[in-house]
Amino acid sequence: MMMSIDLFERHGRKRAAALHEYFMWARDNDVWCGYAIVPAQIDRLPPLHPGEPVNAAIVDEDSEGITIRGSRQLATGLTMAQELLVAAVQPLKPGEEKVGFTAMVPLSAKGLKLISRRSYEEGTSEFDAPLSSRFDENDAVVYFDDVKIPWERVFVHNDVEMAKAQWFETPVMAYQNYPAQIRLGNKLIFLLGLAYRMAEANGTLKMPGTQEALGQMAAETNQVRSMVAAMEVNGVRFGEYFIPNPGIQYSAQVLSQQLYPAFINRFRELAGGSVLARPSSHLDLSSPETSQLIERTQGSAILSAVERVKLFNLAWDAIGSEFGSRHTQYEMFYAGPTFSSRMRNFAAFDWDEAGGTVDALLETVANPI
Ligand SMILES: Cc1cc2nc3c(=O)[nH]c(=O)nc-3n(C[C@H](O)[C@H](O)[C@H](O)COP(=O)(O)OP(=O)(O)OC[C@H]3O[C@@H](n4cnc5c(N)ncnc54)[C@H](O)[C@@H]3O)c2cc1C
Repeated sequence: MMMSIDLFERHGRKRAAALHEYFMWARDNDVWCGYAIVPAQIDRLPPLHPGEPVNAAIVDEDSEGITIRGSRQLATGLTMAQELLVAAVQPLKPGEEKVGFTAMVPLSAKGLKLISRRSYEEGTSEFDAPLSSRFDENDAVVYFDDVKIPWERVFVHNDVEMAKAQWFETPVMAYQNYPAQIRLGNKLIFLLGLAYRMAEANGTLKMPGTQEALGQMAAETNQVRSMVAAMEVNGVRFGEYFIPNPGIQYSAQVLSQQLYPAFINRFRELAGGSVLARPSSHLDLSSPETSQLIERTQGSAILSAVERVKLFNLAWDAIGSEFGSRHTQYEMFYAGPTFSSRMRNFAAFDWDEAGGTVDALLETVANPI
């Protein structure tokens, strides 16, 4: 947004100054900001309480700032964050100006409520759930119960055009998704390694079917990492800045939403029952009676029972536990539903280039009359 400060200046000098000041403060203080920019899913239904906004909207304003009421979803990491960006990413129609605002809210703001899902860390141990026990980010629906936001924290105000332009006429989307694709590439290389180790442990690595599946997964991993490299190599000028290629970024978004669940499904096919043929907890390994049985059933020529259980605990936590399956849902939806990513890619693609190749060929074909 700061790279497009001139756009905010056209919207309003004071709003641009607020953005500038906030950015400097957040950058210098290394502030952790979560974001909630999507209307609550329930908002598409006829309102249960007519007149009460479900989707967060400005309900009042005075010389000090705006007051907002209603909700937004689904802020990842918000229970651990310091600040929340609230904005509207969905297209707004004239008449929906009160929803067309962007502001920063401190987590300590009076009236800010977080309805957060159950923590996946609860009741787990590092050995039994190596990922859930340490890396759960949590997700929260946010409710603004008449939250007052001072003008110094309001960047967009009552403007449906600006509410859209802040995403699509700035490098916001490129900078949201470029690091997300780097993250995904790293995640896939980890999952690929895990699938490989799992096949080794199951003694299936030499089987052609296993190698074929791993070869496909390796290609998918390289596809994501190649698109990151392509965004960099084909970066474009944006004013005085050089930014990752926005078109490739939109395409990467579309492909990775489909790729991740397919990748996880291949992983599951390789795993068979091994990810569930595990003792109930690390305590079973310390009891002399059960540990003996586990050694007999889980120990193999290449891994001790403890090593094998540890590996498969990790595998299940990555793909099938509540933590693991939340990751699949995350990759499918964090950037919006598939239809909207595809529509964005349609809007960003260079159809003149594609259509031009057809026109050029047609020109080489003589007309009969
Ligand atoms: C784990 C997780 C973490 C997230 N983290 C964040 C975050 O930190 N901040 C944030 O702002 N957002 C975040 N999101 C994204 C966001 O909150 C929404 O979940 C996402 O934008 C999808 O919107 P929705 O849930 O309303 O689903 P919907 O848009 O209702 O989609 C559900 C299904 O309905 C279909 N559908 C709905 N409307 C149409 C239509 N008009 N035409 C065709 N098909 C349609 C969709 O294709 C999809 O199959 C996160 C999502 C998840 C799952």
